[in-house]
Amino acid sequence: MRPRRLVTPDPLLPSQVGPGAAAVVVGGGIAGMSAAIVLAERGVAVTVLEAKDHLGGRLDAWPERLPDGTEQMIEHGFHAFFRHYYTWRSILRRADPQLSFLAPVRSYPVISATWPAEDLSGLPAAPPLNLLALALRSKSLTRRELTRADPDTGRALLAYDRATTTAELDSVDAATFLDGLGMTERTRSMLFEAFARSFFCNQGQLSAAELVAMFHYYFLGNPEGIGFDVPNTDHATAIWQPLQRHLEQRGGRVLTGSAATQITPDGPDWHVNTAAGPISARHVILALDPGALRSLIGSSPVAAATAPLLADKCRNLSVAPPFAVSRIWLDRDVASERAPFSAVSGQPNLDSIAVYSRLEEPSIRWAAATGGSVVELHSYSCRLADADEAAAAMRTELAAMWPETADAVVLHAHDRLEATAPAFPPGSAGSRPGVRTDARGLRLAGDYIELPYLAGLMERSAMSGVLAANDILAELGAAAEPITGVPQRGLLAGVPQLPRRGRRA
Ligand SMILES: Cc1cc2nc3c(=O)[nH]c(=O)nc-3n(C[C@H](O)[C@H](O)[C@H](O)COP(=O)(O)OP(=O)(O)OC[C@H]3O[C@@H](n4cnc5c(N)ncnc54)[C@H](O)[C@@H]3O)c2cc1C
Repeated sequence: MRPRRLVTPDPLLPSQVGPGAAAVVVGGGIAGMSAAIVLAERGVAVTVLEAKDHLGGRLDAWPERLPDGTEQMIEHGFHAFFRHYYTWRSILRRADPQLSFLAPVRSYPVISATWPAEDLSGLPAAPPLNLLALALRSKSLTRRELTRADPDTGRALLAYDRATTTAELDSVDAATFLDGLGMTERTRSMLFEAFARSFFCNQGQLSAAELVAMFHYYFLGNPEGIGFDVPNTDHATAIWQPLQRHLEQRGGRVLTGSAATQITPDGPDWHVNTAAGPISARHVILALDPGALRSLIGSSPVAAATAPLLADKCRNLSVAPPFAVSRIWLDRDVASERAPFSAVSGQPNLDSIAVYSRLEEPSIRWAAATGGSVVELHSYSCRLADADEAAAAMRTELAAMWPETADAVVLHAHDRLEATAPAFPPGSAGSRPGVRTDARGLRLAGDYIELPYLAGLMERSAMSGVLAANDILAELGAAAEPITGVPQRGLLAGVPQLPRRGRRA
C-alpha cells in the first residue's frame, strides 16, 4: 500500500501569483496557518487574525508559572502526530525540515481496569495482514469472533468507499453498527471504544459512516501503519514560533488578540471587522472552530444574505460535547512500567493518560529537578459540566488504574473543560460546508469542513487549509500546492455483498 498523490500542480502554471494579491485568514490554528503559509510562499500578502494572544488553536501552548516559581508551558492537550499526516507534516517541515522535533512513541497500550492491556503499535501497515496480525496478537479479539462476525457489517468495515459507505451507514449510529459486528464486550471495549471516543463523540452520537471512514483512515488504509510521533518539546517552541517566523519572513503578518466580529462584502472585497477596526481583502479564509464559525456567520447578516447556502450550513453545524484536560504536577513518579501514552477503556470519564515527564523536555527537566512527574488526563466526550468536577473524577479513575498515584500530592494542576470540537452525528453527511462557499472570495478551512479527500483531525485541518489556499491560487492563475493522502477506498470496496441463506434476491 502506497500513499496517493491527490493534487498535482499543473507544470504549465507559474508558482508565484502576480503583484498586489492579498488575503485575510481568520483563525490561527493548524487550518489557518497551513493556508497562510502556502499563500505567503506564493507571493500573496497574508494577514492572520487570531482571537487569542497566541497561535495554535486546539494545538496551542502558553507559559504558566508554577507555585515553585518555575515557568512551564501548558498545552491544549497531548497530540499524536501520525505518520500519514502528509499535508500537516509538509507544513511542519517549514518549521523543521527534518522533523527532528518529532520522536516515535514505541508502544501505546489500551488499558482497562477489567481486561489485560492491548498494544496496537507495530502492526503491519496493510490489510488483510494488519487484521490478521491483530487477530493473532490480540488478547481480546478471538478468531472465533472474527469468523462469527456478521458478514455484511464486517464487509462494510473493510469496504470503505465514500459514496457507498455514506449511503449505507450515515443514518446508523456507531454503537448500533458495532452491535452488528457481534463482538464480545471485551473486544468492543478494548479495540473499538477507545478508538471511537478519540473523535470526541460517544458511539451513540457518532455516524457509523464516519467511524468506518476513520477506521480506514487510521488503520486499514494507512500506508504508514498506525504508529505515531510526539514533539520532544512544547508546541509553541517546536511548531508555532518557527511557523510564525517562516510566515513573517515571506511578508505575512500575524495579528493576535484580534477576534473577527463580523464580515461584510464590499464590492469585490470583504471587510473583516475587529475591535481595532476593519481589514479588507478580496480573498478571505475563515479557519475557525465550528462554534466560532457558526457565531461569526450568524452575526454577519450581510454575509449570510450574500451566501444563503453557507448561512444555512453554518446554522446546522454541531459542536461535540465538551472535552476535559487536566495536567497535574505530582510530587512523585508513576510506576516505571507505565507507558508514556495509554488509551483508557471502560472508565466513565478518563480516556487517556500521557506521562509528559517521559515525553517532552521541559517536563522531563522539571521531573528530574523535583523527583515528581507531569501527567495529563483527557476525557474526550465528557459527561460532567464543570472543569474541576471532571478533573476530580479523572484523578479518582487514574488512582483506580494506577494505584501509585492515589497518595501522590498534586503540586499544581491546570484543568479545563471546553466545547470546540466538531460533532459528526448520524445523518449529518452532506450538511457541513465545504472549502468553497456560495460567496465569491470566501473560503473555509477546519477539521469539520467537507473535503473531497479522506483525512482526520489535525490532517483534515491542514488539508482543508491547503485546499482553501489552492482555491485562491487557482483564481489567481498560479499552480496548486501538491497534496498527498491515503488510498481513498478500502480493500473490499466495490465487492458485492455475499448472498446469504434465507435472504431474498
Ligand atoms: C485535547 C485534544 C486532543 C487532541 N488530540 C489529537 C491527536 O492526538 N491527534 C490529532 O490529529 N488531533 C487531535 N486533536 C484535534 C486537533 O487538535 C484539531 O483537529 C486541530 O487542532 C483543529 O485545528 P483547526 O485549525 O481546524 O481549529 P482550531 O485549532 O480550533 O483553530 C481555530 C482558531 O480560530 C480562533 N478563533 C475563534 N474565533 C475567532 C474569531 N472570531 N476571530 C479570530 N480567531 C478566532 C481560535 O482561537 C483558534 O485559534 C485533539 C484536540 C484536543 C482538544
